[in-house]
Amino acid sequence: MIDVKLQSVLRRVYDSDVPARSDLEYLLALKDPSEVAQLYAFADFVRKEHVGDGILLRGIIEFANHCRNTCLYCGLNRDNSHLERYRLSGRQILQGVEELVCSGIKTVVLQSGEDDALDPSWFEQLIEEITSKFDIAVTLSVGQKSRRQYELWKRAGANRYLLKIETTDPELYASLHPGMSFDNHLRCTYDLQAIGYQTGSGSIVGLKGQTIATLAEDILFFRERDFDMLSVGPFIPNRNTALGRRQAGDLGLTLRCIAVTRIVTKNTHMPANTAIASLAGRDGTIAALRAGANVVMPNFTTEAYKNLYELYPGKKCINPKESVNQVEKIAAELTRYVDYSRGDSLKRKKEQATSMAQN
Ligand code: SAM
Repeated sequence: MIDVKLQSVLRRVYDSDVPARSDLEYLLALKDPSEVAQLYAFADFVRKEHVGDGILLRGIIEFANHCRNTCLYCGLNRDNSHLERYRLSGRQILQGVEELVCSGIKTVVLQSGEDDALDPSWFEQLIEEITSKFDIAVTLSVGQKSRRQYELWKRAGANRYLLKIETTDPELYASLHPGMSFDNHLRCTYDLQAIGYQTGSGSIVGLKGQTIATLAEDILFFRERDFDMLSVGPFIPNRNTALGRRQAGDLGLTLRCIAVTRIVTKNTHMPANTAIASLAGRDGTIAALRAGANVVMPNFTTEAYKNLYELYPGKKCINPKESVNQVEKIAAELTRYVDYSRGDSLKRKKEQATSMAQN
């Protein structure tokens, strides 16, 4: 049955530039299955209107699991002595890139822990080599760095940068990230956007101390900064971390967050991310794609190392060819299609079109 109040809140949130926090909280807190189904259907409609039916593929290479930080939820944190550490060589990374290009994928995501040993010039040369050999977009995800380093890598040919804020509550952020600075995170985000990276943020759902109100604030922040990419996924406990005994984030709340984020931010690229697949398998990926997501990220990390990038146990990293086949099958089931284009930001396109029309 169509709920009149719910439909008017959905419309209001969709139509307003800055939605009311209370409306977002109302949507995030929905429990009744028929109301939740209406939320997902609306988010799916917004997804179709603003990003279309294509499911974009990004090939991720997790090239090092060394990390200087001690994030309370993350298996890569430097205090986790149970983890065997690795760094891939440039040659191994290029092999992964070649493999993803052969699969028809046109974006590589180079991710690592925040590794102090990452040599900026080595990374610069690697980015140059990738962009000179292959016609693909390069996304970086190596944490909080100086503006100078971000500029260097942008000049070398990198196009995009992922730096999830995880939570926008400064106190919660501080309690989860000892020794890290919320203000420095914001500085990085602003620098990345100012330099011209297509920039991604996102949150983890189910963190200790998080509430519906803080999740609503996260979504308002996503709207305010008009991110090109947003990744929202559940917390998954890792027994080798301080939050190892906490229960996993709720799948339903995660999907509602994805749906509300889609409705508020409209044409942002949003993955059905690995944490969702790890928590809820193929059904979780399908549910996220039905609730507003439009991206999947097959894993092209060198086979012998991929299990060592253990953010949490049971992290799904199936063989990348199987993963692409699985997305093809899912796309067919959803009467959508796999989009093998670069999938650049739709935000800038809109801005460019508006400024061309004004000139
Ligand atoms: N160092 C880079 C950074 O900080 O942006 C990228 C690597 S970081 C390990 C990648 C992402 O893993 C984080 O942004 C976080 O959202 C996710 N992550 C880590 N531990 C997690 C956990 N236990 N549950 C869910 N997501 C987790």
